[in-house]
Amino acid sequence: MVRLRFAPSPTGYLHVGGARTALFNWLYAKKNNGKFLIRIEDTDTERSSKDFEEIILNSLKWLGLLWDEGPDVGGDFGPYRQSERLEIYRKYAEKLVSEKKAYYAIYNNNNEEIEKSFEKPSNFKNKDYSFVIKFIVPKEGKTYFDDLLKGKMEFENKLFDDFIIIKSNGYPTYNFAVVVDDHLMKITHVFRGEDHLSNTPKQILIYDAFKWESPIFMHIPLILGEDKTPLSKRHGGTSVTYFQENGFLKDALLNYLAILGWSVEKEVFNVFDEIKKFDPSKISNKSVVFDYKKLEWINGQHLRTSPIEKIEKEFLEYLKLVKLKIANVNRAYFQEVITICREKVNTLKQLYDISYPFFFDDFIYEEDYIKKFLLKPEAETILKTAIEKLNKINNFTLEEIEKNLRLIAEELNLGTKKVFQTIRGAVFGKLVTPGLFESIKVLGKQKTIERLNKTLIFRSNYEK
Ligand code: GLU
Repeated sequence: MVRLRFAPSPTGYLHVGGARTALFNWLYAKKNNGKFLIRIEDTDTERSSKDFEEIILNSLKWLGLLWDEGPDVGGDFGPYRQSERLEIYRKYAEKLVSEKKAYYAIYNNNNEEIEKSFEKPSNFKNKDYSFVIKFIVPKEGKTYFDDLLKGKMEFENKLFDDFIIIKSNGYPTYNFAVVVDDHLMKITHVFRGEDHLSNTPKQILIYDAFKWESPIFMHIPLILGEDKTPLSKRHGGTSVTYFQENGFLKDALLNYLAILGWSVEKEVFNVFDEIKKFDPSKISNKSVVFDYKKLEWINGQHLRTSPIEKIEKEFLEYLKLVKLKIANVNRAYFQEVITICREKVNTLKQLYDISYPFFFDDFIYEEDYIKKFLLKPEAETILKTAIEKLNKINNFTLEEIEKNLRLIAEELNLGTKKVFQTIRGAVFGKLVTPGLFESIKVLGKQKTIERLNKTLIFRSNYEK
């Protein structure tokens, strides 16, 4: 049975690179009917926080990358927070000392190592001294491991100095805790960012010292920004929270993260439908550039092709998250509005902007509309004629609306563009909306006429 883990350090939001790592681990566990677990690596006491832990877990939940074992759900191999496992690390470090594979290094106040010992120092209560436990690196030989993506990796042991495994505050270092935990939690595969490649030989040395078998490793190339440096805030938003708050759909974000390295025959797909196809050997060993435009395009594809109920649900969740309200409308109307509006936009944020005038009367007329259409002398006649014609329609169908609006252009001997834009802006405040006839149909006869009247009043006040 395969067991994979995602082991975030709760020192910040969930970076999209971390989310992609979690996704690949999750996909492999799911594909093989194995287990996926979360372990919180909070040994950096200065930078770790419970708030970040919660944010990271919420981001993973939002994406739908759920876990079988973890700090919140428990499991047979807990605790799943490293800060709650200090005794375990101490015990294993002391075992190495007793086998002379590690030693106590004693430091004075100037941070100089003054003594090495296999006996636990008894004077550590003395403020003038502190001690750590250091792992003894063999002075010769090589350390190897097979990376799924990079093949055989080989490191000269003499490149490494003895390194700290337990710090003076009693906390383990990353390289030590990760080995003890991956072993005790029976992790079979470790997929993680390439930035950890240089840590892996140290970890292998620890596995060897304990005579433990190491998991299978795969180091994934980092996600880069346009300038080919690791994707960071300098390039734009990088956290899952950022994309969530900017109206991206979870399935689209997962889809994009998946194709940042993994290729399936198609570009737009639902990750949950392709689990069985996931194959780590198809992951590219080249670094990939994060393309915000491409992500937005993929988001648009999902926005338009997902079942409307799904979009409705995510839109409502999004509005709640960013504390935006929508007027109380009935569900059928709400669905009709998003059905026509989603054709024009790529994100839920844009969906909110474009659908706003379908829900609220207090929209503001775009400057461009006012200057290019509303203030033109013929605007008044166009709007008055529109009111007259729309008023006369009994059966407010798409065909009737179209026929009557076209008639205005004909009768006034004006271009349809001019007529339609004048009406569009009067009813919705904007020059870009879903198709004019369907927009008017969805909004309804009464509201449309009300708005045309209101715009005429606005126009006459504007002139004064
Ligand atoms: N806590 C480490 C990190 O966030 C985990 C690395 C690993 O997967 O071993 O980078």
